Amino acid sequence: MKDCVVVGGGLIGMLSARELALAGVQVTIVERGQAGQESSWAGGGILSPLYPWRYPAAVTQLAQSGQAGYQALAEALFEQTGIEPEWQQSGLLMLDVAGHDEAVAWAQRNDVVLERLEDDDIQRCEPSIQGFQRTALWMPEVAQIRNPRLLAALRRSLELLGVVFEEQAEVVSLQQQGGRITGVETTTGIHQAENVVIASGAWSRDLLAGVGCSIEVEPVRGQMLLYKGPPGLLHTIVMQDGHYVIPRRDGHVLVGSTVEYVGFDKSTTESAANALRQVAEQLVPELGAIEVVRHWAGLRPGSVDGVPYIGAHPEVSGLYVNAGHFRNGVVLGPGSAQLLADVMLGRTSGLNESLYAIER
Ligand SMILES: Cc1cc2nc3c(=O)[nH]c(=O)nc-3n(C[C@H](O)[C@H](O)[C@H](O)COP(=O)(O)OP(=O)(O)OC[C@H]3O[C@@H](n4cnc5c(N)ncnc54)[C@H](O)[C@@H]3O)c2cc1C
Repeated sequence: MKDCVVVGGGLIGMLSARELALAGVQVTIVERGQAGQESSWAGGGILSPLYPWRYPAAVTQLAQSGQAGYQALAEALFEQTGIEPEWQQSGLLMLDVAGHDEAVAWAQRNDVVLERLEDDDIQRCEPSIQGFQRTALWMPEVAQIRNPRLLAALRRSLELLGVVFEEQAEVVSLQQQGGRITGVETTTGIHQAENVVIASGAWSRDLLAGVGCSIEVEPVRGQMLLYKGPPGLLHTIVMQDGHYVIPRRDGHVLVGSTVEYVGFDKSTTESAANALRQVAEQLVPELGAIEVVRHWAGLRPGSVDGVPYIGAHPEVSGLYVNAGHFRNGVVLGPGSAQLLADVMLGRTSGLNESLYAIER
């Protein structure tokens, strides 16, 4: 049986581990802190890129692969673990968007339901928003998932599958001999393995630099606010000018997000809280009377055009990468994990692997 160390216990690492474990690989996830607490926890869980027509086909293909299977994944995890990831098709309403024709053409090409709405139709679609918008684009099939719950369910299901979690162990270097990976060195010792997957999110670039591999992945901070409203206050995900509000089933409303290039600094700022509060309360006036219960930041693994690196290292055999999912790691995760496993196990993939290659 093959064995594999996955470096990083975020969503990408855990989904990769799941694909590999289901194919019979003995997987250990080595995680610097606690699994599922970084970007994957911090995200909004929208199961679509925002303004999806603005992304390259490489992102659309992975997103569609994830979207096709998310409901079934959530149901399977719920059944296995009793933890409900709360997949729900709440739709995505984008207000006052420029370039409707481009969006409509993209939707037709990709077989996606996208409608133009005006005036009263917008209000009917989401009665809670203030009625000053003139036009909107509506994607009724877009779903969301509650990512902290998804991570908790995934973790439990991986443990049931026999995946080992080695936490509080930071990988400090990759071990290789004669052009072949032999394992990783961690802060707790050497861990030998036939295969290693770098799925370390925003931190992936430095680890790979140690084996002469350069990928363009950098941290991009995103801050979020959380309101605790009554259930049913808002029904759909609503976006305006790049910001969004996401309604959870229990009445929580997430507001996001900032896009900040400030290095590995995960602190929150008063100015971002004020800006997000203003966006939210202008869009949904009732939020003005509701308490903000939490404010946090996460570091997205930023990459060029949001296209992740998925595949084998060109020179070190047994070394793989699955990193750089930028703003869309939740929706791109399942497709990325499948592609990674296809490459490692020599299976035929339905995707054009070269679009995601490390040396692209
Ligand atoms: C505010 C915000 C909103 C978002 N909203 C959405 C959304 O609505 N929809 C969507 O699809 N995506 C969204 N995203 C993006 C998505 O969350 C990320 O693309 C995705 O979580 C990246 O997952 P990851 O596993 O690569 O990274 P992470 O979750 O950051 O995991 C990487 C892990 O690697 C570990 N690690 C790093 N270095 C080492 C080392 N040397 N040794 C051991 N372990 C190490 C870290 O501790 C961490 O646990 C959002 C992100 C943010 C921040």
